[in-house]
Amino acid sequence: MIKLTTQGAILGVIAFVIAGCMPDSSADAPGTSTNSGPDPFAEARAMHDRFITLDTHLDTPVHFSRPGWDIMERHDFFTDRSQVDYPRMVDGGLDGGFWVIYTQQGPRTPEGHAMALDHALMVAMRIREMVARNHEHFELALTADDAQRIVDAGRKVVYMSIENGYPLETDPRLLETFYRLGVRMFGPVHFANNELGDSATDMGGPEWNGLSEAGKAFVAEANRLGMILDASHASDDVFDDLLEYSATPIVLSHSGVRAIYDHPRNRDDERLLRLAEHGGVIQMNAFGAYLRPVPQPPGRATALREMREEFGSLLGMSPERVAAMAERRREIDERYPVDFPDLDDFMAHLLYALELIGVDHVGIGADWDGGGGVEGMWDVAAMPRITKRLIEAGYDEEDLAKIWGGNVLRLLRAAEDHARSVTAEATP
Ligand SMILES: [Zn+2]
Repeated sequence: MIKLTTQGAILGVIAFVIAGCMPDSSADAPGTSTNSGPDPFAEARAMHDRFITLDTHLDTPVHFSRPGWDIMERHDFFTDRSQVDYPRMVDGGLDGGFWVIYTQQGPRTPEGHAMALDHALMVAMRIREMVARNHEHFELALTADDAQRIVDAGRKVVYMSIENGYPLETDPRLLETFYRLGVRMFGPVHFANNELGDSATDMGGPEWNGLSEAGKAFVAEANRLGMILDASHASDDVFDDLLEYSATPIVLSHSGVRAIYDHPRNRDDERLLRLAEHGGVIQMNAFGAYLRPVPQPPGRATALREMREEFGSLLGMSPERVAAMAERRREIDERYPVDFPDLDDFMAHLLYALELIGVDHVGIGADWDGGGGVEGMWDVAAMPRITKRLIEAGYDEEDLAKIWGGNVLRLLRAAEDHARSVTAEATP
């Protein structure tokens, strides 16, 4: 999830996120049967019904506080800016995923940390409230085994994750509070450095050259509790430290491949190979700015900045205001068009990673509602397109089942097993 901050470099990335162009429509996306010919996605969609499909980075909770926004209603990305809701999950054959408690990095002061903690607790509550309100269609998942049980019951799977440990400051005991609320994945940093370690994108460069001592204490506590550690926004040094210090395999919940596009949010081959050696998984991101360079026409950045200043954050925004903002976006996209990354660009990263480290170590984390989405795949309804491409590339159903959920569930099971073993050791 991307939010405004005062850091110029971050603004650059944000400008790009908001700069993502809006194509005419995704009328032929799976789930929208507007033509009468054979459904080109039928095989892919049918496969989705036969195994568990999870996306490891759903920023959708950002919409939960929007007045009138209801996850049980169908929305359109081009007018509503959202990419995940129940009807579109059904269309895309998406069983669920890790729903993110994202906190924007703010001032590293007592006041800043207190506000961040309040925010993170509130988002955790909103996720639980969404599940409670829609308990016939969604269920909170707390163990790896829960996923299959929930899918068999015909409901969508809601694991919770933390993106940015900033709200927890330096107190690893707070992690248990969030564990009890349901959190099973923890990413220590976001766009900027914090008390736990360095970010991949802090313009000031490294501060700790890896995890801080507090950061290492969080790793031990996450292991003790049975959470998966997420190195997605971490600097390379923090990635290395997470690999070294975590007792269980780590995840990159929404990242790409640096060999395809040299960007700090992506990982180099050597690190991906080590990730796999340690049993970890990279979940492929569909965030346009990280897939390949996208030149911006003159005037676009200014127009987008003015739009942002006028409309502000989506949080608490009325439906009318969202529609007006979406309309402004369409005007800007028409006036200052960009050559936005498409499904080919996403697949280049995915197929490269699969070739390099194999089907046991790659999955999907498209950053829905956090800046993800490419031409030809603008919401979760279009996810069978990935499956179709993978089938065309020669991957079979067993491979697809690992990529779509089996791998990340293996990591969660490993985290659970470890937590159980240390608890058993501590109990004579
Ligand atoms: Zn992110």
